[in-house]
Amino acid sequence: MSTLQQALQLEADRGFTDLMGRRERFSGFLARNLREADPAMPEPQQRQELAAAFEGYGELSPGRRQTLVRRCREHLHALRRSLQPATPMGPPRLRLTATPSAPPASTEGRGGAPAPAWNPESPLGEIRGIGPRTAARLAQLGLFVVRDLVHYYPRDYLDYANLVRITGLEVGRTATIVATVRRCHGFSSPRNPNLAILELHLSDPTGRIRVSRFFAGRRFASPGWLKSQERQYPPGATVAVSGLVKESPYGPAFQDPLIEVLESPQAPVRHSAIGRLMPVYGLTEGLGADRLRQAMAAVLPLVEQWGDPLPADLRRVEQLIDRPQALQQIHNPSTQELLRASRHRLVFDEFLLLQVGLLTRRRELTSRPAQPLQSPGGDSLVTRFLALLPFPLTAAQQRVLDEIRADLAREQTMARLVQGDVGSGKTVVAIGALLTAIDAGCQGALMAPTEVLAEQHFRKLAAWLPQLHVSCALLTGSTPARRRRELLTDLANGQLQLLVGTHALLEDPVAFARLGLVVVDEQHRFGVAQRNRLLAKGLQPHLLTMTATPIPRTLALSLHGDLEVSQIDELPPGRTPIRTTLLRGSERDRAYSLIRDEVARGQRAYVVLPLVEESEKLDLRSAVEVHRQLSQEIFPDLMVGLLHGRMASQEKQKAIQAFAAGQSQVLVSTTVVEVGVDVPEASVMVIEHAERFGLAQLHQLRGRVGRGAAASHCLLLNDSRQAQAKQRLDVLVRSTDGFEIAEMDLRLRGPGQVLGTRQSGLPDLALASLSDDGAVLEQARRVAQQILGQDPELAHHPQLAALLARQRARLTAAVRLN
Ligand code: ADP
Ligand code: MG
Repeated sequence: MSTLQQALQLEADRGFTDLMGRRERFSGFLARNLREADPAMPEPQQRQELAAAFEGYGELSPGRRQTLVRRCREHLHALRRSLQPATPMGPPRLRLTATPSAPPASTEGRGGAPAPAWNPESPLGEIRGIGPRTAARLAQLGLFVVRDLVHYYPRDYLDYANLVRITGLEVGRTATIVATVRRCHGFSSPRNPNLAILELHLSDPTGRIRVSRFFAGRRFASPGWLKSQERQYPPGATVAVSGLVKESPYGPAFQDPLIEVLESPQAPVRHSAIGRLMPVYGLTEGLGADRLRQAMAAVLPLVEQWGDPLPADLRRVEQLIDRPQALQQIHNPSTQELLRASRHRLVFDEFLLLQVGLLTRRRELTSRPAQPLQSPGGDSLVTRFLALLPFPLTAAQQRVLDEIRADLAREQTMARLVQGDVGSGKTVVAIGALLTAIDAGCQGALMAPTEVLAEQHFRKLAAWLPQLHVSCALLTGSTPARRRRELLTDLANGQLQLLVGTHALLEDPVAFARLGLVVVDEQHRFGVAQRNRLLAKGLQPHLLTMTATPIPRTLALSLHGDLEVSQIDELPPGRTPIRTTLLRGSERDRAYSLIRDEVARGQRAYVVLPLVEESEKLDLRSAVEVHRQLSQEIFPDLMVGLLHGRMASQEKQKAIQAFAAGQSQVLVSTTVVEVGVDVPEASVMVIEHAERFGLAQLHQLRGRVGRGAAASHCLLLNDSRQAQAKQRLDVLVRSTDGFEIAEMDLRLRGPGQVLGTRQSGLPDLALASLSDDGAVLEQARRVAQQILGQDPELAHHPQLAALLARQRARLTAAVRLN
């Protein structure tokens, strides 16, 4: 129809000349279209007349042509108006009473005694409106004081604020309607005499809907009781109904929704949930949703007096709503928009506290005067060490080492993190840094997260350092007492220049004479508190941390926001990329034949398992079991080693050394080999139950091969039937980029999993998500920098300072418990 309108308009514009189109004239086009138009449309007669008139259009005078065109346009306009649907009906209105809340905190206390001064630390049992029984239940959720409860955020919301007309209801969504009762009918279920059903037929100007309510129990089945229910919903009454819309044989329907009879369509609803966004909380036995909401309503008014730790002008600039309002709204949102704003504010606060903490610590770390460590130019230890290496440093290694050495030469302590994918060669960079410190007359410490790794570092150092006349020792949990005593003496009198070890280095009797630099390898395996403990041992040691777990920026900012970051973003040359293949458990034989081929060529293979011993519950293949099978049945002609965390340290070391030396060709291991282990001849990595590992962890494991020139293989055995498991593992087949993989892992499994359960430095975030709230995190970091830039001691932000102190106290307490 609009093409006809356009044609008419054009004809009028051109002065009624019966325009020639591409195929026909204007008059022919109109006659044809009018004749063929749907006869079901109004006024078909008139269209046929018009069509006939247009057939003779060519013979008409210009004036008659003009009249005909006008008549036709009028007809089409009328047609369009009659076809257009009436303007859709807006949603119903509902008047809500003011937010329900408990009596204000300042009213008189019990028994006329003076009002207690309720504050965030008040025990919940003392709050009016929360009885001792409820308080006990709340304690089961770990909620003891007012602050705990206020920070117990809803897990989700039911959107009863979604006010719609009946035709607008969508199956699967929660909604609220305002409707008129047509009929109400109570009966007991034909199949179950103890089940009573009340069925309401409702309508609004757009349609009809059925609502059922179910009552289980003998007493409800009595006719008298059912009649009394029916009387509550007389025909013609207005009701507000909130609930989830479900599919039923009669179309969309409500089952057991919240219903309130309104005195008139304009009367306010009294029910506290109808028409609102309803918070949904995690509950515990004996504590129902209603009781928890009541308790919440009792404490929320107190929040009003807590004030806002952020100054008003800052809030305005950053578009943050004030904190008391945010806390109230997150539990009791008036609108989706306010809920979003509240969440933003509270997430921002969590990140802000985190960032202020990290940046403050950064200042503490770096503002202390340090001894500048500068190796003499020319024939320095570092130069001689690099000459010993069979390879030149990559450009990235050289750049990072230069960055570190520049830091060390300053009169401020270094706090730097070196990030580099597995195999990028972080160890030589670390040694270069340690030798710089030693050259300057100080001692160095190298800390590794596992004994296996500490021992490996020590063996490498033992191959080089004697040639440089640098003394070096290993200290782990399994160092014999005598050796340990000797070593501590040498350390204290400065004889010993370099100490390598596990967190045994943190123990109290370990005292250095002149600790200059601490290197923490695979730092993601340590908690922040642990690395701080080591720092406390020296006067002002410089700190270098290294990690191979490439972590997404949000995590990096959250965990290492106190560190300067260097990237080794280049792998040493000559590495052939690792081929990763996904196999089903039933294709295990392919893995074994590949191992056989590679071993025949002088290479070696790892077989990694998630467990040490057989687990009946999980039905997983364990390292011990697989080792038995491989050594006895599959590869009786090969030497198969075994390595797992429960073995004594010496046994572990033996197993690794045998594998490194080629005495065993296959090593069955748990994830003990995950970090750091470096055997260049290994070219096959088989990972059993790969679906049970995180992607970042698999990437680490895969990094154990491909360290020499030979082409390497990683075979992931997937025993899960879940499509998602395969999809996840496919990321590894496709990508060798650690950052990409970590980013995916964060999305799929969350931060705790990405970092491994041992990461104790992870902030406790109640609401914020490291995978979704990256933008808020950046905002918080910027604001934290701004605040500390103007007010480094937080003298003008007392509330923020208090929160920070509380958070620190909690973190230290948590560390002590660990
Ligand atoms: P990671 O960064 O994973 O700790 P390593 O320090 O263990 O990596 O180094 C991996 C392997 O690469 C080691 O065998 C190491 O000797 C070797 N390597 C390190 N730097 C270079 C280089 N510049 N050229 C060649 N090989 C190197
Ligand atoms: Mg390493």
